[in-house]
Amino acid sequence: MRKTIAVLLAAALLAGAFLTACRGAAPSGAETKAPGQESAAPGQETKAPAPGTDPSAAEPELTPEAKAAREAAAAVSSDTLYVKKVEGLPEDFILGMDVSSVIAEEASGVRYLDAAGQEKDLLQILAENGLTHIRVRVWNHPFDADGNGYGGGNNDIDTAVQIGRRAAQYGLKLIVDFHYSDFWADPAKQMVPLAWADMDIEEKTEAAYQYTKECLQKLRDAGCLVGMVQVGNETNGALCGETTWFNIQYIMQAGARATREVCPEALVAVHFANPENEGSYASYAKKLDYYQVDYDVFASSYYPYWHGTLDNLKSVLDDITKTYGKKTMVIETSYAYTAEDTDFSGNTIGDGGGIIKDYPFSVQGQANHVRNVAQAVADMEAGIGICYWEGAWITVGTSSWEENHEKWERYGSGWASSYAAVYDPKDAGKYYGGSAVDNQAFFDAQGRALESLKVFALLGKGNEIAPQPDAIEDAHLTVDLAEPVVLPETVNAVMTDDSRQPVPVVWDATEEELAAMNRGGAASYTVTGKAGDLPAVCYIEMIEFNFLENPGFETGDLTGWTVTDLAKADQLYVEEKVTDSKEGTWHMHFWSEQKGSVEFTLEQEVTGLKAGTYQFAVSIMGGDGGETDIYAYAKVDGETAGTAPLEITGYDQWHEGRVTGIAVQEGQTVTVGVYVKCAGEGNGAWGKIDKAMLNSQH
Ligand code: CA
Repeated sequence: MRKTIAVLLAAALLAGAFLTACRGAAPSGAETKAPGQESAAPGQETKAPAPGTDPSAAEPELTPEAKAAREAAAAVSSDTLYVKKVEGLPEDFILGMDVSSVIAEEASGVRYLDAAGQEKDLLQILAENGLTHIRVRVWNHPFDADGNGYGGGNNDIDTAVQIGRRAAQYGLKLIVDFHYSDFWADPAKQMVPLAWADMDIEEKTEAAYQYTKECLQKLRDAGCLVGMVQVGNETNGALCGETTWFNIQYIMQAGARATREVCPEALVAVHFANPENEGSYASYAKKLDYYQVDYDVFASSYYPYWHGTLDNLKSVLDDITKTYGKKTMVIETSYAYTAEDTDFSGNTIGDGGGIIKDYPFSVQGQANHVRNVAQAVADMEAGIGICYWEGAWITVGTSSWEENHEKWERYGSGWASSYAAVYDPKDAGKYYGGSAVDNQAFFDAQGRALESLKVFALLGKGNEIAPQPDAIEDAHLTVDLAEPVVLPETVNAVMTDDSRQPVPVVWDATEEELAAMNRGGAASYTVTGKAGDLPAVCYIEMIEFNFLENPGFETGDLTGWTVTDLAKADQLYVEEKVTDSKEGTWHMHFWSEQKGSVEFTLEQEVTGLKAGTYQFAVSIMGGDGGETDIYAYAKVDGETAGTAPLEITGYDQWHEGRVTGIAVQEGQTVTVGVYVKCAGEGNGAWGKIDKAMLNSQH
């Protein structure tokens, strides 16, 4: 990724050097906005209102439905959902939700119910819960030659018009998300629409301009309230099949110019992902400034699983405001309310290694995520809002993959259909299926609104009710095999306000089951339990605790050990050589060419042991020993407690000596070690000592 950006940067700089020469050949669609032809980007002049305000301040007259929805939103309350008030939330803060899949979902039989269980238009439910904007992606032509949809909602402009019209009825503005592609555009993929595939950049720019204009005109004519227009989706260094900024910017300029002409009241947004990539946003913003791309909002995706911290997000977006005076927002975010999949098509985030970032996968966790993203954006220098991604993309059926698959294919309600293969054979054409985010929706599998949907209406005033346990943090125990397994009596509850409180827990494990863990050797166990109504899990690692320091010489020296060289060996030291080590990369090495010059002890003293029975083991290999006397030994308070004979028989032939039954009383000192004496023969005795262990005997 980084390399790609560096290459693009170099290409763009190179292109910049030839800018003057190229200007005359600028694509016609970008003529008026070609670099250097304007004294300042229009977005920074008269059209740019003060940061944080919406230029479409002249509100259209509200329909009766819109008025009723706003009243309902103002009256939203919850007995169970905790919402910490967002400090400094602007009145006109954008609370958006992308529901691009809704038409395909409804065609597939999905119905939406409000929290009270009453079936309503999804757009009405969203308006009644405080949403202000609806985001809709627009693909140029997501259909094959026979008219079969590629899926993902089959979102062409006509679909956007349908959604936008219904949104307007409830007073919801539209964020129009032009991908300038026939299907999904994201950091990994920015494919050119088929109809534009053979165009040069000049023709493509004109096509993008005309297309944007026609689309926006259709939305306008249908009475949609276009509040924002995105010129590209997650355009990290590519757009519409173009991969140099010199060309990318022409497409962006075309979209911006069309927007200014058709929807002058709308904000123009650019959209990027991966704020965690150091320096990437600053470099995009610099390019946009260099080419004087006309935009108002620098928008970012923010998925907590991948996109770094909110602090980092705020920092990189604030830098853009400080440097270029742009507004900022989170235009895509989401969080799982459950790890469960409900549509028989795997989810992006879920169980089986799913990453739980900061919050539990719970209805409350989902709301807390939204609330904290809103606070982070409200804290930004010029943060104007947030937009949740695909909050209503739920399962289209409850019985089987086959049932759902038939609907995904027919109505485009899955992320991709098999028909997408003609356009995107490598990804969509191969892995087509249902919703990968049904567990991140604000509606359950039956289409009923979750309590968390109320978070949008409650952000501004807060709902700081008494915190309740919402989920239980996993408990972890590491237990020496010689010690009894004692499960904790309390576990940490994650409270609805995201604080932690210890709560009593009852484990589903008998004394006999726990005792068996002591006999099972080094192993891992999972014990489940209940803390109130909430499930609890305790992970137990049964280990053989090694009381020796530096038992395998991995510190690279003799830390913990004492060597007594009784016959002046030629070589006697700790050595790094993985092939000569029993474990790790270091071991104790000895060698002597002279006959009779190998005699030494290597030992370690251990104090502070509890009373009990212990065992000591150590391994050796070597050769050319001649007559040898080698053994492992253990002493207690200086008295020999046991020995175990050892031998050296050749390379890689490790022998272990084990002294067992070392009885220790509290306060006694234990000394363990190896005695090595070799007469030597041939090239002289050599050897390697490694993997020492003193542990409880059980
Ligand atoms: Ca799914």
